[in-house]
Amino acid sequence: MKLMEQEGAIMTCNVTQCSYNQVEECHAESIHVGGDHAICDTFTTTGVQEVVSSTEGEVGGCDMIECHFNEDRDCEASGVTVAMHNGHADCFTFRPQV
Ligand SMILES: [Zn+2]
Repeated sequence: MKLMEQEGAIMTCNVTQCSYNQVEECHAESIHVGGDHAICDTFTTTGVQEVVSSTEGEVGGCDMIECHFNEDRDCEASGVTVAMHNGHADCFTFRPQV
């Protein structure tokens, strides 16, 4: 059964040069976010054998523990947006906790 609101699901990604991107949708099985800011670690332009378009991308792990949506390195946002930032992909749903 599929939940209506899947936590950590990638709603949209405009990084169309990524191998997992098809029509601004992420088809990686899961992505990893982390680094010196909320970088999508899974962004790649090579190394993908075949993209399964039925696979819907979601955040499998996130090291941005200071993010409002981070719960035990899991993403609890009801949908995240990934977008281009200086030649790499960033999670734009990142919100610092107050
Ligand atoms: Zn960035």
